[in-house]
Amino acid sequence: MKFETVIGLEIHVQLKTKTKMFCRCLNAGGNEPPNTCVCPVCLGQPGSLPVINEKAVEFGAMVAHALGGKVTWESKFDRKQYFYPDLPKGYQISQFDLPIVTGGAVKVSVPVEGGKRREISVRIHRAHLEEDAAKLIHADDGNSSFVDFNRGGTPLIEIVTEPDMRSPAEAKAFLQELRLIMRTVGVSDADMEKGHLRCDANVSIREEGTTILNPKTEVKNINSFRSVERALDFEIKRQTKLALDGKPVVILTTRGWDDVRGITVEQRTKEDAADYRYFPEPDLPPLMLQNLAESLRSKIPELPEARRNRFQSEYGFSESDSRTFVDDEALADFAERVMTELQEWVSAKSEGGAHWNASRDTFAKLAAGWILTKLNGIMTERKIDIRILKIKPEDFAELLAMLHKKEVTGPNAYLILEEMAETGADPSIIMEEKNLGVDENTDELALIAAEIIVNNPKALEDWRSGKTNAAQFLVGQMMKATRGKAQPETARQLIEAELKKMR
Ligand SMILES: [Zn+2]
Repeated sequence: MKFETVIGLEIHVQLKTKTKMFCRCLNAGGNEPPNTCVCPVCLGQPGSLPVINEKAVEFGAMVAHALGGKVTWESKFDRKQYFYPDLPKGYQISQFDLPIVTGGAVKVSVPVEGGKRREISVRIHRAHLEEDAAKLIHADDGNSSFVDFNRGGTPLIEIVTEPDMRSPAEAKAFLQELRLIMRTVGVSDADMEKGHLRCDANVSIREEGTTILNPKTEVKNINSFRSVERALDFEIKRQTKLALDGKPVVILTTRGWDDVRGITVEQRTKEDAADYRYFPEPDLPPLMLQNLAESLRSKIPELPEARRNRFQSEYGFSESDSRTFVDDEALADFAERVMTELQEWVSAKSEGGAHWNASRDTFAKLAAGWILTKLNGIMTERKIDIRILKIKPEDFAELLAMLHKKEVTGPNAYLILEEMAETGADPSIIMEEKNLGVDENTDELALIAAEIIVNNPKALEDWRSGKTNAAQFLVGQMMKATRGKAQPETARQLIEAELKKMR
């Protein structure tokens, strides 16, 4: 028997509003001392009344647009009733039958074997606004627990997908794309490690070729991208083994992911929706959102998918470089400004766009290589983030132009780049001050080439006996002797010319 995996996700995204969902307490994000961002509303005290945070509703509507879904024009809040120590009111204000978002789909590119990628579309079932519960902290002695109500009442949007993912890798790729979308739209920092983005996964298996959805297991407590794949892998293996043993999963269950032990542990059999006895929240008015929905449509920034496509069509970046850039908004902005500067430079020089069209791909390759490899290397080494980098995109573009014009060699351009990262200075000034420009004096360079050959008799002998890589060695020596000031091409020509004289 061969099985197919069916995965759907429920993702809680913490919205980065200034204040909480239904009161004016600070949405502190875990930075404040415990129980300092609280008030009668979020502590559920008698007589207190909730007020809807307008910004959270706006964020909800933006999520609808960003996911390609619909904003529900008449939406409302409901009470979801259950008891737990982290829920002082005895109910959570959530949305039941009229969630703020319905429908939508996210295109996801999933890495597959051989360095290739495959595109899938994950449909969105719905997304609703709700308040977060407080945070329970269990003491190490195992005898006591503490409650921090700072998190209680924090605005969340819960996004529910259709069961459209067929592997842990697809689920992970979807989550990563969702994180990027949330960041791009600016509704959340979506940092999984900080709990801004929390994922529950519904997993079931079925015999290949069938379309029935078997009872699913809900896996909770998945707190990192790494554990998404691990938890799902474990759960699929567990269910497959049960099915092969003739004891398939027949009831809905909830299991928690134990990251330390690398297993899922049964928590409870799942309540039906009816168990929560949802009913409309009497203290809050319904949401009439048509005007808001329409006014927000034009405020949605360019989404990652569109930006990746544009990076390829407009600048000539490769698919994979576009992906790397767009994964980090600030890095993408930097690359975009570098390319714009280069385009201006080329166009100014050639009086028209024709030249740019001809050289665009060359510059795209040059820029991508220098940003993603060299600049990233320098930033990693110095623990600098692109957001605090001293190098201005126009200066970076100037350095690339200098390279392109062969005014500086690659090795020396790298030295200049290091200095730019240090001081933020202009590349042409650094080149002049440190005497790092290309040496054009070929007469002088020819003398150096001859001298190098004389000083390396073994290499000369090798070359005479037909070992061509001896010449390459001499070119390397020449580059070293001129401290990177000779163009490799010039060095090679001069070495070869001098060698021929000594044949
Ligand atoms: Zn409060």
